[in-house]
Amino acid sequence: MIVSKFGGSSVADATQIRKVKKIIESNSQRRLIVVSAPGKRNSSDEKITDLLYRCDDEVKRGLGAKSFKIIRERYNEICNDLGIDDISAILDEVESGIEGGKGPDYAASRGEYLFARILAVFVEAEFIDTADVIKLTDDGRVIEASYEALNNMIQGEGRYIIPGFYGSNSKGDIKTFSRGGSDITGAIAARAINADLYENWTDVSGLLMSDPRLVDNPGVVKELTYKEIRELASIGANVFHEEAITPVKDYNIPINIRNTNKPDADGTMIVTSRDTSHFPIVGISGKTGYRNIFVEKLMLKRYPGFREKFLSILNRNNIFPEFESTGFDSISFLAPEGQFDMVESVIDEIQKKLNPEIIELRPSLALIGVVGSGLPEQIGVAADVFTALKSRKINVRFINFGGSDITLLVGVDSDCYLDSLRAIHNIFGDK
Ligand code: ASP
Repeated sequence: MIVSKFGGSSVADATQIRKVKKIIESNSQRRLIVVSAPGKRNSSDEKITDLLYRCDDEVKRGLGAKSFKIIRERYNEICNDLGIDDISAILDEVESGIEGGKGPDYAASRGEYLFARILAVFVEAEFIDTADVIKLTDDGRVIEASYEALNNMIQGEGRYIIPGFYGSNSKGDIKTFSRGGSDITGAIAARAINADLYENWTDVSGLLMSDPRLVDNPGVVKELTYKEIRELASIGANVFHEEAITPVKDYNIPINIRNTNKPDADGTMIVTSRDTSHFPIVGISGKTGYRNIFVEKLMLKRYPGFREKFLSILNRNNIFPEFESTGFDSISFLAPEGQFDMVESVIDEIQKKLNPEIIELRPSLALIGVVGSGLPEQIGVAADVFTALKSRKINVRFINFGGSDITLLVGVDSDCYLDSLRAIHNIFGDK
């Protein structure tokens, strides 16, 4: 069996929804379908989920759910265009729930709920409400029994449609996942029925090697591992919800990212392991705006607990480093520059409590992550990266490799960011 999840852009209007129907019906194994709420139809449009959050806000401000009118029109238009009965009665019920102050989670979840009801009619499938089967702890974790409960519902030979993005807590109240969380529902569903494949249908033909807004025509990555996609997410790449890996990873259920608008393209497969010989690197991604706080103290190892004290001063001042580097007599931490607002008092405190010889907040850096399981396995991959930077006369300010053995992290001056990204992309991107 295949679990197929369709994102907001895949279900934004009747034209898209017809493509979804065709995809579903072209493979009889696609029996459990997870949907997002309709997304934007064009760049100036609004997502249904955003409108629903706005309705909740309007109720809180005593204005009544004014924006529900737009939501109602949108769903009515979809039903009309698809030639199915409208869902006025269900829309009324949802509107009064929002007006009655059921809160943001309830409101936001209704985008998926309403659309799943419509799709179930359109593709003649059975609707299952995820609130009845996906049970969540108060801090949003999935209760184990949910998997069996969902599996028990998938018994007949037919198709099932479930709304993504939410479940319910012990009190039976709706709880949503974080934004983009229908990916998580898809992964939960795949694990629940021990699917052969989890398809994630979106509006790109898979994961791209680099950000297409920054480099020209990056190629599609054919295959990468769960670990590689996690690493890419940590350095800014953003295709698949990072929490959606956990439910499927331990069960070795492959994920296939595919394009609803180009259903013949193979997309990207996310798997447990891969042969790295042809493609040592799967992605190049980066983030700008890091600052490096550096201290040096002679005979550092004679001061036990120095690193912990340094870190706790930073944390107490709301600085949460994401990367670190240690030398014989020095330590430095890298954190987003927005966290260094109160830097003078922080430096003062470090000076008083730790008495280092040097303390410096270094200029803004961009970090570029080069990610691939080929890094520890093949000779010369890192050398290629540095040669590319050298050929553009780019000074390397920071290196981290080994914290994760599949990510080479390179820090360069912020104004060299694009040039560095492109130089590295040119070596790996077209392979
Ligand atoms: N509709 C939700 C959102 O916009 C969840 C999703 O689309 O995955 O965040």
